[in-house]
Amino acid sequence: MKERIIVIGNGMVGYKFCERLVSKDTAKRYQIVTFCEEPRPAYDRVHLSEYFSGKSADDLAMAKFNWYEDNGVELHVNELATSIDRKNKRVLTAAGKVVPYDKLIMATGSSPFVPPVPGIEKKGVFVYRTIEDLEAIKAYAKNSKTCAVIGGGLLGLEAAKAAQDLGLKTHVVEFAPRLMPRQLDEDAGIMLKDIIEERGIQVHLNKATKNIAGEDTVSAMEFSDDSKLPVDMIIVSAGIRPRDELAKEAGLEVGERGGIQVNSLLLTSDPHIFAIGECALYEGMIYGLVAPGYQMADAVSDLLLGKEASFEGADMSTKLKLIGTDVASFGAIEAPADSGAREIVINDPHSKLYKKLVVSADGKTLLGGILVGDASAYGGLLQIYQNGLVMPPEPIQLILPASEGSAAMGAHDIPSDAQICSCESVTKGDLCDAIDNGCGSIGELKACTKAGTGCGGCVPLMTDIFKAKMKENGVVVSNRLCEHFDHSRTELYQIIRATGIQTFEELIKKHGTSLGCEVCKPAVGSILASTWNKPILEHAQLQDTNDTFLANIQQDGTYSVIPRVPGGEITPDKLIVIGQVAKKYDLYMKFTGGQRIDMLGARVDQLPSIWKELIDAGFESGHAYGKALRTVKSCVGSSWCRFGVQDSTTLAIDVENRYRGIRSPHKIKGGVSGCARECSEARSKDFGIIATEKGWNLYVCGNGGMNPRHADLFATDIDRETLIKYIDRFLMYYIKTADKLERTATWMTKLDGGLKHLQDVVINDSLGICDELEAQMQQLIDTFECEWTNAINDPEKMKRFRSFSNTDDKDDSIHFVKVRDQISPARLNETAEETAIAQ
Ligand SMILES: Cc1cc2nc3c(=O)[nH]c(=O)nc-3n(C[C@H](O)[C@H](O)[C@H](O)COP(=O)(O)OP(=O)(O)OC[C@H]3O[C@@H](n4cnc5c(N)ncnc54)[C@H](O)[C@@H]3O)c2cc1C
Ligand code: SF4
Ligand code: SF4
Repeated sequence: MKERIIVIGNGMVGYKFCERLVSKDTAKRYQIVTFCEEPRPAYDRVHLSEYFSGKSADDLAMAKFNWYEDNGVELHVNELATSIDRKNKRVLTAAGKVVPYDKLIMATGSSPFVPPVPGIEKKGVFVYRTIEDLEAIKAYAKNSKTCAVIGGGLLGLEAAKAAQDLGLKTHVVEFAPRLMPRQLDEDAGIMLKDIIEERGIQVHLNKATKNIAGEDTVSAMEFSDDSKLPVDMIIVSAGIRPRDELAKEAGLEVGERGGIQVNSLLLTSDPHIFAIGECALYEGMIYGLVAPGYQMADAVSDLLLGKEASFEGADMSTKLKLIGTDVASFGAIEAPADSGAREIVINDPHSKLYKKLVVSADGKTLLGGILVGDASAYGGLLQIYQNGLVMPPEPIQLILPASEGSAAMGAHDIPSDAQICSCESVTKGDLCDAIDNGCGSIGELKACTKAGTGCGGCVPLMTDIFKAKMKENGVVVSNRLCEHFDHSRTELYQIIRATGIQTFEELIKKHGTSLGCEVCKPAVGSILASTWNKPILEHAQLQDTNDTFLANIQQDGTYSVIPRVPGGEITPDKLIVIGQVAKKYDLYMKFTGGQRIDMLGARVDQLPSIWKELIDAGFESGHAYGKALRTVKSCVGSSWCRFGVQDSTTLAIDVENRYRGIRSPHKIKGGVSGCARECSEARSKDFGIIATEKGWNLYVCGNGGMNPRHADLFATDIDRETLIKYIDRFLMYYIKTADKLERTATWMTKLDGGLKHLQDVVINDSLGICDELEAQMQQLIDTFECEWTNAINDPEKMKRFRSFSNTDDKDDSIHFVKVRDQISPARLNETAEETAIAQ
């Protein structure tokens, strides 16, 4: 007769235990019975937020109902286990069942910790853990405008992003002096706060909530420093508490601050009862991540089959995308005191990058690190850290940007026995074996090895290993866009053009999988706009905030307005209109580096009327918000300047008008100088033109910004017609072949054959595609339409220009102070003196 195992809790870890035991118990020694309080079998809680972006409960399920049936696992959903009769080895349930067991597995997980603040029970306070929680939040958000998330940890920031996506003005309130205090040091916390605030979520640190105000329903949060934050709803994400109530009542040993005490065999104080996942307390530690839970599930399934196994603690490394930015941390985040260990830090507030390595005193061992803004080095660093690999002589090379000589660890350097996926314990060797045995895509590799199916943190490294191994096996791997498309950006561009596909939905249905993600949606939106030249708002659901509102969002949640001023030339009348509009709407004015005028401080609901006035006066969109041609900067050239040898202003105006509105993989800038003195800095542009006595010199692929690159001299002393022909071909070739979000400078550094190849294609027509490139460019030029004119003439598009998704109210939390006679965003303490956080 089979022995019976009861698993209490069918969450991620409870399910994983069932899956592991089913697959290992080939002799069918055990029968599994599992109870779950939730109304559905285990689902992927790690990706819970995707429920808001269209994934259904079914999509998130770890396994379908019939998996349990097919594998003889008796699943009881919606059924709470209410007590454990240890003496008779029986579990009693709320439905009145009494089920005996031979072994019992506690996989009861945890519940959100809700601090006992007066008023916390009011209507409008939510937690963020289950599908039902998300449904309740979504329903309540329909009638709310502002939301505060209590807790600035991983889950709090994820909840804040979800609240913002629901159209709510969102605040994060954190008790500690920095965000993610467990994973980040002070400087990284400051950087993350800056990034998050820049994306429109306001962060309040050092805030202890003393009361939730309101009648029956939340109306404000009151803090111990006597400040107040008016809000319509609150999401509490202040940590987790292990669900140990059943264990406690059954007399099992629990920790002082909660958690079912287990030893390295995951046994509780009762030798017939194991505890795994977030309810288990091992050496004073509750592991709030899925990978350690899976390791526990794996170990117990082995132990039950008489194999040797144990749990010796787990690594708490994490890598996440929080509110669109990469954040990762592993090991020690600060050099341990008196250890002699050193910290190597890159802190670049301008480009919002923070990278830190903690290295042993002898420089040989990596003890830990933090990455904010760019976590591409995480996979390699984690390998060095976890496997004790030798560090390069200059450790900083591991975190330098690729363009500055980074020596980031490549797939080849990783030893075969290194663990790549800690959720599923998959090594590099396992991955390579699977590839040798025929796995030909990341999807197949995931399905076959299960690597990357837990928290997903290892997917980038797994992809690198896949590519390297395929290359080694002589198979060419395409540079796939993301996990939803097996095609590179270039291939998708060709598919769209060849098939005439006009929408993302049609493309993903025919050539991709699932619903898409934040990588493929904007990339495809940009290709569709580049190819068919339709106003970007027709693909607005695929774009980032700037495209959604045809304006750049600023750190205080307001927007900027930048009309096109071709070549930087403007008449006094037009200048007066800009001044009048700025005055009427009380906007801040400043000249940009691209020789036009920026008006800042506009609320989203003001944008249409501001633009209407500008368009009526003959202006058009300047595309300052888009991945498109921005400006063509020029000097006054031979018309005014005594050194000028050609009319640089006229050429700049013509060129800017020719390419205006053309969508591309990244922004494009141009410049025209009237002589070699180069007053327009044309050689720091994607295309730069410098006048010569005989005609024009063309330079390509330069850029300023973070990693400046001088443009390469492409052609000399050419006439105007040839010049335009070359730029047409050059830009179109770039649009067709560059990767997503790749500027021309990066594209050039990656281009096989570099400048020579580009010259061959554009000047010598070595690929025979120049006619096609010119025709495609001409089609874009002929179909140009000002996006703002199109938007204000379309009532449907106008509906989106509201401060809140669910009402027409103005956003009254925006505040300004006066600096040098113009408005400037109020800082938090200045705001506090006004109204948003009223004393
Ligand atoms: C929004 C969100 C994002 C996350 N992101 C990440 C991430 O990026 N990376 C990461 O590693 N981790 C992440 N986590 C954490 C991860 O989801 C958890 O570590 C994991 O779900 C723990 O699994 P578990 O089975 O131990 O607990 P749970 O998933 O909580 O499952 C426990 C189950 O047991 C049930 N139960 C409890 N008591 C009883 C009882 N008496 N009778 C019957 N059933 C009972 C509960 O209802 C629940 O369904 C995230 C969590 C959330 C909420
Ligand atoms: S405008 Fe540009 S340089 Fe200035 S702070 Fe913003 S990103 Fe930095
Ligand atoms: S680049 Fe030459 S022509 Fe233009 S302003 Fe400077 S000196 Fe004059």
